[in-house]
Amino acid sequence: MKFLCVECDKQMGFAERELPGDGTLAAVFTCPACQRSVAMLTNPMETQLVASLGVQIGGRSVPEQPFELTRTAVASGREGAFADEAPAAASRPVWDEAARERLSRVPSFVRGMVQRIYADYAAERKIAVITTQVMDDARRELGLEGM
Ligand SMILES: [Zn+2]
Repeated sequence: MKFLCVECDKQMGFAERELPGDGTLAAVFTCPACQRSVAMLTNPMETQLVASLGVQIGGRSVPEQPFELTRTAVASGREGAFADEAPAAASRPVWDEAARERLSRVPSFVRGMVQRIYADYAAERKIAVITTQVMDDARRELGLEGM
């Protein structure tokens, strides 16, 4: 982006720039021959456009505008906002010792899923205590051989 002094046909030099902080931008260019000046003013949206294009004005690119901060705040969000599970309800079945021991041998990366499958199975059948017998029944009924 260049400004030419029409009368002198010279490229005008950058004189000063202001970023008042309200999102507007003011840049002044002066003709080296006749000292005539022009000022460029942009509104916040135009300033944002210039900043996003990385346009250099007066040797420095226009700094990132507050939009960036807003985007970051939205992206980080509140932790736990999308937790997929409420705390276990009181009606959830309990695991007896042997069943818990067998569950502990399930690879950890699927254990949570397997545990939930058995717990849902037991809850649907009003089974209060999950035993290895219940696990065997569930495996047979649900076709979960190997779990
Ligand atoms: Zn001039």
